[in-house]
Amino acid sequence: MSRGPSTTRIALIYPELLGTYGDGGNAIVLARRLRWRGLRAEIVNVAAGSPVPEDCDIYLLGGGEDAPQVLAADGIRQNRAIARAVSGGAAVLAVCAGYQVIGESFPSGGEIHPGLHLVGIETRRSFAPPETPPPGRAVGDIVVEPDPRLGLPTLYGYENHAGRTRRLPGAGGVPLGTVQRGIGDGDGGTDGIIDGRVVGTYLHGPVLAQNPALADLLLSWVHGALPPLDGPPETVALREARRRALAVS
Ligand code: GLN
Repeated sequence: MSRGPSTTRIALIYPELLGTYGDGGNAIVLARRLRWRGLRAEIVNVAAGSPVPEDCDIYLLGGGEDAPQVLAADGIRQNRAIARAVSGGAAVLAVCAGYQVIGESFPSGGEIHPGLHLVGIETRRSFAPPETPPPGRAVGDIVVEPDPRLGLPTLYGYENHAGRTRRLPGAGGVPLGTVQRGIGDGDGGTDGIIDGRVVGTYLHGPVLAQNPALADLLLSWVHGALPPLDGPPETVALREARRRALAVS
């Protein structure tokens, strides 16, 4: 259901800490796809360390390295703005470090740090028995077949992470999709989570530039039905990502 905002407010959380992989582009994509439809959008840059505002419609958390990721989680935890906004109908897109942060806990510097407890996942270097060497960093193109209930086409991106993620028993939501190529969660062939209006994924790209249907799904949650968009349904970024992912390597 639409929250009916006249201007859709898109919060880009701590881009100084969670901007390493260009995921700030997701904010630009969302704002552009609204403006191309004659709708109003505002990107709210939430500077690292400042309290997260509660009055935004979409919250974006990007990827980052281990130490900045801890700082980001600690800063966001100053208040419960994202959780409260989600209860009020806001959406979240969390990518890689952001995905790990919205869960229960994640590793950094040999320690386990608490996450934001927005979704029932946990991240570790490995879930294999202790005597097994941890898996290497997951780096490269990734192709994900989304849960059919989402009505989305195949998702394309790239991944670059050391962590492996699993859903906790009894957790809400469903995996975002199944991995056709790449690693993703690295625990059973899935990538990401979709729990209500909270989406987590390992896909960089930025993921919304390469997968405009996912951008429109998020926008429709907070805006209601969207007017059709003139122009080609596919972006250049999607075509290029698909070409790269399907190329014989
Ligand atoms: N630091 C995390 C990891 O390596 C996330 C990396 C990222 O956001 N790309 O697992």
